[in-house]
Amino acid sequence: MAVIAIDGPAGAGKSTVAKQVAMSTNLPYLDTGAMYRCVAHAVMQSGVNMADPDAVGQVAASARIVVERDSAELNGVDVSGIIRTPEVSSVVSIIAAHSPVRDAMRSQQRMWIESHGGGVVEGRDIGTVVFPHAELKIFLTASPEVRAQRRVSQTGGDVKEIAANIAERDRIDSTRSDSPLRPADDSILVDSSNRSITEVVNEIVHHFQESQKAS
Ligand code: C5P
Repeated sequence: MAVIAIDGPAGAGKSTVAKQVAMSTNLPYLDTGAMYRCVAHAVMQSGVNMADPDAVGQVAASARIVVERDSAELNGVDVSGIIRTPEVSSVVSIIAAHSPVRDAMRSQQRMWIESHGGGVVEGRDIGTVVFPHAELKIFLTASPEVRAQRRVSQTGGDVKEIAANIAERDRIDSTRSDSPLRPADDSILVDSSNRSITEVVNEIVHHFQESQKAS
């Protein structure tokens, strides 16, 4: 069961790259950020206090989340669009910092990979915590300017506001005590700032092929 972990900060190009790597390697694709976004949306709908780890954890544990390549469902409702709104983006990191939420998501992610027979998994803690024995671990980065610009071209909006949201999410994600955003010791650092998507994808697929030969 092969797992390729792709972690990195917001806007580094993880989704685009991970989807193409999945196609090239014939592996399923899992976007774990979409799962945390579903929880954030559920918490916003429920009205519970976002700062209360247990209350937020209960919402996470009872939410029925189904994430597939291009879609996300929460309790049977398609939320693929709404989980990408600035409102969700501005609170998702606060919710994702709570351990009860992370515990619930981690076990769902492992079950997903088990039932799909492996996959390309993108997130923040995949190589460090969720799949520490992944065949290949990539830490994908890009300069803050490039990351903000990429998000604007994907979702529209004001570049300054988006840059501020990205910076704040990265700050919360990398300073939380439970599974903070950081490269795994055995991850390969890939900077996508001045490179095309195809170049980055080819490099990752090449590393994967090498790791398959070695195993
Ligand atoms: O990948 P994306 O930017 O959609 O992730 C949204 C948020 O979900 C991140 O900023 C982070 O707070 C959280 N997340 C996480 N762990 C993951 C994936 C996402 O904490 N494995």
